[in-house]
Amino acid sequence: MPVRCPHCGREAPDGHYCAYCGAPLHAAAPADTRGAAARRRDAYAANPREHVYHPAIISTFFPHLNPSSTHLARWVLLGAALVIFLVGLGRVVPVAYVVAALLIPALYLLYFYDAEIYEDEPLPVLGATFAAGAVLGAGMSLYFAPLILRLYRPAFQPRSEYVLLTGVGLPLLALLLMVLGPLALFLFRRRFDEVLDGLAFGVASALGFAAAQSIVYTWLLITGPVIRTGNPLSWALPTIRISILMPLLDAATAGLICAALWAWRRPAEGGEVGWLAWPPAAVLVAALGQVIPNVASDLFGGEIRDLIWYAIVLVILILFVRHVLHHSLIARAHALGHGGTLRCPHCGREAPDLPFCPHCGLALRSAAKRERRPAAPEEPANA
Ligand SMILES: [Zn+2]
Ligand SMILES: [Zn+2]
Repeated sequence: MPVRCPHCGREAPDGHYCAYCGAPLHAAAPADTRGAAARRRDAYAANPREHVYHPAIISTFFPHLNPSSTHLARWVLLGAALVIFLVGLGRVVPVAYVVAALLIPALYLLYFYDAEIYEDEPLPVLGATFAAGAVLGAGMSLYFAPLILRLYRPAFQPRSEYVLLTGVGLPLLALLLMVLGPLALFLFRRRFDEVLDGLAFGVASALGFAAAQSIVYTWLLITGPVIRTGNPLSWALPTIRISILMPLLDAATAGLICAALWAWRRPAEGGEVGWLAWPPAAVLVAALGQVIPNVASDLFGGEIRDLIWYAIVLVILILFVRHVLHHSLIARAHALGHGGTLRCPHCGREAPDLPFCPHCGLALRSAAKRERRPAAPEEPANA
């Protein structure tokens, strides 16, 4: 029996959430806080079991995954990080760095394969985005490495030119280069127009960039004049920064800018997305997110302190990305368009072809392509 939604006023199928606007149908909210209830901060649009501001890596960077794949990806990431740490601890550092550089990109390619995000032309679009990021990352690292090495001074007082270059200049240049590929898609390939498309392109380009950069730096480390000595931890801790924190920081900053760009292009139908999804604000947050951890580890560095700077800024950036994704998915939700019913990949119940699952509130456009298709009709019992 249909119910009138208190937020958008449409007749929606009965459930916990309005299938048209995603607001809770039976929220006992007074009229003046209805706007806040409709934003449903306790149920992230791409994974309603989580709060919007829950610093989860997988549901932020891999938003198309269903709960069981999310769980699996979390364990793969954790296990791989542990292996890299142990390899680093054993001082097989070049191996650890190269494996580290490829860990998250490999996980991301598996994700694209699993989620079938772009079934029509998967490899050309995604591969080109990733490759463009990798080429630019390798080029930039090779070009600036001699200058970085010349300015580097292993002392407690780094030179100001070194801090300006490695803390401010290069991170901002890197950010610009990481969004170049997605920007070309934004301007010339208008077929991919959802906010999660923007996120995916930004993340792919950033991961290509980060992987190429850390492979170049590893190669310079092996062949170059900077020799590290000391206890095994001073080898192993940087591998965690290189394998997990730096690629994710790049992915978060480039992904934030691209998600905001894509969100800005599609006109809002169901409400405002907020000032954070305004592209200049996203660019400012992303730029600060690149500069702050780099300057902090130049000025107040150390193996453990570097990890802390990167981790704090990464968590804050993840919350920003989730804010933009959640509000854009709600404000720009629209039906899949096949007109049938499907099995919701999140809660497993039958859902009509409307913007949101009425049972769990998932924005159905955030599901993997494979899972968006109409459910197969029941087989006749004695066929
Ligand atoms: Zn509604
Ligand atoms: Zn559901």
